[in-house]
Amino acid sequence: MANKLRCPGQDQRFWKPEDIFDVRCPNCGNEIEFWKDDPFHTCTKCNTIIRNPKIDIGCAEWCKHADECIVGELMK
Ligand SMILES: [Zn+2]
Repeated sequence: MANKLRCPGQDQRFWKPEDIFDVRCPNCGNEIEFWKDDPFHTCTKCNTIIRNPKIDIGCAEWCKHADECIVGELMK
């Protein structure tokens, strides 16, 4: 998990346990662990790209770190 891409504009020290949650893959039902600022994950079983249902992609419109962030890449 150490190489996961994260928005540098968010500080995980203030996160709560519920900020980490599981999302079920729509293709195969595999459960993927999401952190609240993960824009997407690839299913470990079937490689389907699963978008984070809780993330606000709009943050890339104002976040000064958008250029360094995968969310900014998705906005292009
Ligand atoms: Zn899957």
